[in-house]
Amino acid sequence: MNKKDIIEKNNKYIMNTYKSFPIVLKEGKGVYVWDIEDKKYLDFVAGIAVNVLGYADEKYIEVIKKQLEKIHHCSNLYITEPGVELAEVLVENSEFDKVFFCNSGTEAMESAIKLSRKYGYKNKGKNANEIISMKDSFHGRSLGSLTATGQEKYHEGFGPLLPGIKYAKYNDITSLEEMVNENTCGIILEVIQGEGGIYPIELEYLKKVRDICTKRDIALIFDEVQTGIGRTGKLFAYEVYGISPDIIALAKGLGGGIPIGAIMAKEKFAQAFNPGDHASTFGGNPIATSAGKHILDRLLNDKVLENAEESGKYLRKKLEELKDKYSFIKEIRGIGLMQGMELDIDTKEVVKNSLENGLLLVGAGENVIRFVPPLIITKEDIDEAIKILGKSLDKSQI
Ligand SMILES: *Cc1c(COP(=O)(O)O)cnc(C)c1O
Repeated sequence: MNKKDIIEKNNKYIMNTYKSFPIVLKEGKGVYVWDIEDKKYLDFVAGIAVNVLGYADEKYIEVIKKQLEKIHHCSNLYITEPGVELAEVLVENSEFDKVFFCNSGTEAMESAIKLSRKYGYKNKGKNANEIISMKDSFHGRSLGSLTATGQEKYHEGFGPLLPGIKYAKYNDITSLEEMVNENTCGIILEVIQGEGGIYPIELEYLKKVRDICTKRDIALIFDEVQTGIGRTGKLFAYEVYGISPDIIALAKGLGGGIPIGAIMAKEKFAQAFNPGDHASTFGGNPIATSAGKHILDRLLNDKVLENAEESGKYLRKKLEELKDKYSFIKEIRGIGLMQGMELDIDTKEVVKNSLENGLLLVGAGENVIRFVPPLIITKEDIDEAIKILGKSLDKSQI
């Protein structure tokens, strides 16, 4: 099929839920991806903070191929080695004791919500089911995580939503304190609000939230679906702050592009789940977990994490330089390789111009351009991206 046919069939056969760009991507290598007309793009989207190793990494392919030839799926009626191996690396390199595997970010958040409710139910009684989430947060599209998402635009038309979820103002301790009561079982935070517009959490606020949760026996839940797995230069973004939650949700980068999600919990909270309480047919699938194990190996033992930290600093410096040059750049925010640029002008035009000039970018929130490249990105790649972005900004200035 040519490009026109594919786009026509896409519009005819696939539900109209995405505002996709009118390009058809065909193949990638490293940090580059090509469309069906052989136009080359430098990828600063990485499948929305997913493709940790970029495209077509040889060792990654080899691991997945080998697993595919051995056993590709068998359900959780039986145990497989890759799932156990991935769980071990995750636990041994974090503050948590147990893992539950699922398949996506929204499912990870559903699992976190359920675990915190079960914990409240067992330890504080059947009314302890209230969850506090944040305004402008994003946690996914299934009804539980959609309700936890503190943005009305995503709720409209899908009610009635899940009862028992309230929204506090992010980085505002008074707003949170007013909502906490004896029935609160969980507080959900993003370490950096991603979809909301790249807003990092403040350390002093986070310390206070941690205190409240510890004192009142409330599960502190971090949604690290986007910030986790090396994105900030640390394996988990909570390490940047030195404050760990009780439950953490992971997905995006975890499989490097193979669908997988997970939650991890400290022992006390993990114990709230008993056999039969929660499950997923595909959860812990050997293909997905072997991919995840390889991603963790590369981050920890192949300097990918160090590269993310260094390249993140360099990207930040380069974005700040652009801010000094263009008065319509309001702010640069973020940590590591998760950066946002807030503009006074229409970001859609800048994203569109960059795409035409061979750079993939994605927006976040209102008027923010997000930079979430593969974690293997180099300084040279960043220089190239900044050059293309500069051209787009020049064009927008006129
Ligand atoms: C992307 C994202 C989700 C949802 O993940 P899906 O895999 O799309 O369900 C949840 N939380 C955060 C913070 C995210 O960035």
